[in-house]
Amino acid sequence: MDAKNEVFTTAKRVYSARLVTASLGNVSCRDEEGTVAITPSGIDYEVLTLEDIVTVDLHGNKLRGHHNPSSETPMHTLIYRKRPDIAGIVHTHSLYASAFSVVNKEIPVDMVEVAAHVGGRVPVAPYMPPGTKELGEAALNVLGDRRACLLQNHGVLAVGGTLEKAYKAAAIVEVAACIHLLGSLLGEPRELEEEDIQRVKDLYFR
Ligand SMILES: [Zn+2]
Repeated sequence: MDAKNEVFTTAKRVYSARLVTASLGNVSCRDEEGTVAITPSGIDYEVLTLEDIVTVDLHGNKLRGHHNPSSETPMHTLIYRKRPDIAGIVHTHSLYASAFSVVNKEIPVDMVEVAAHVGGRVPVAPYMPPGTKELGEAALNVLGDRRACLLQNHGVLAVGGTLEKAYKAAAIVEVAACIHLLGSLLGEPRELEEEDIQRVKDLYFR
């Protein structure tokens, strides 16, 4: 599947998984030539078509497309320029994870899938204005080798060597946020020990 098709398919998946609402959030994929396919600005996911996906270069200049690229294009292209190992990005405002972002609280590794698909706790990148490359820089500063972080007072950023990995991380972050919150109502959630997190990472985080 080419990058444009992958972005389209993943955009529909994030919409049907209820990780995004209306036109909020964005999805991108970089191909081997360094062309970035990205969701357009202001088009609702529900009506999005393959032809609506825009392509830009690594500096965000539009190459092809009828619409403007996502307003968060500077964040996406900054990440691709600085991290050649990243080829897919999913940004959402998913409800439970965004709730953690507004109280500036990391999502702990209560569940093994967080270690397996995110690679550790989900940290919070300090607030930066949307639509800036500084937002991407703030995220990279806290990501390390992890596949997801929260953007303070904003939402979730997930990255991966493939767009599929970024999608999975974004989906698992939301489930983990919800489970932690529900667990907190029932009692004191137990976070996995560092040793157990590492063991799961060694087996599955690749
Ligand atoms: Zn956003």
